[in-house]
Amino acid sequence: MSGKIYFVGAGPGDPELLTRKAWELLREAEVVLHDALVAPEILQLAPATAIVCDVGKRCGRKSIAQEDIHAMLIWHASLGRNVVRLQGGDPLIFGRAAEEFAVLQDAGIEFEVVPGVTAASAAAAAARISLTDRRTASKVIFLSAHRREGEFEKDLASIPAAHATLAIYMPGKDYTQITRQLLQAGLSPETPCVVVSQGSGAGQSISRANLNSLPDLAPPPSPALLIVGDVAAMAESSDSAALLATSGFGSR
Ligand code: SAH
Repeated sequence: MSGKIYFVGAGPGDPELLTRKAWELLREAEVVLHDALVAPEILQLAPATAIVCDVGKRCGRKSIAQEDIHAMLIWHASLGRNVVRLQGGDPLIFGRAAEEFAVLQDAGIEFEVVPGVTAASAAAAAARISLTDRRTASKVIFLSAHRREGEFEKDLASIPAAHATLAIYMPGKDYTQITRQLLQAGLSPETPCVVVSQGSGAGQSISRANLNSLPDLAPPPSPALLIVGDVAAMAESSDSAALLATSGFGSR
């Protein structure tokens, strides 16, 4: 009998943000195929006997081809092994889950999805902003800036930016181009922005700007998420968050 594949969200970094189900599946995993963004503390939950393999792709670095990941999933399942396909954040946001589902469906292999906390939620929590603060935002739009040449501009041209919060994944290292694209799409230079780097992790940092000043921000360590929209005006920067924590507010 073939094994089962569990697409599991590892959340944004803090192991305490794993769901209980993700935790339990990891503790019992026979095989873990994980992305580059998964924290080592989370991988350590797998039994010492488990096969743990990094199948992540990152910024053009030479890595395992998508077809090879498909082959690995099928191979392990055909040996009757239960596989945790572990992805940063939520497995259904800016991952390749849909392609892997299609392959498993064709091969008649059972699979299940365990959602996780996506980076936009973790970033909003870190900066203490409501992505859909009803006073300023009626929608939140998840965008990937890492698209083929020209495609991000096309995406931006068609978005309903009024009263919207943009949660921009993979914003890159240099915000000059993204800023130009957002301005071209009709956003005001005064539009507030917040960049959350390593949200929920030990190295978390939060930087505020507006579209005018965004290109001047020193690029924070990756992974980072850019939130654009009026709700970002309420964001706390790392400095103010630290101040609150030392004054007793905001600490656990
Ligand atoms: N499936 C993931 C997203 C994968 S795309 C999710 O649901 O979160 C990878 C991008 O997610 C990164 O380039 C970055 O923009 C964002 N990201 C992931 N973890 C993050 C974190 N801890 N803090 C800030 N951004 C993060």
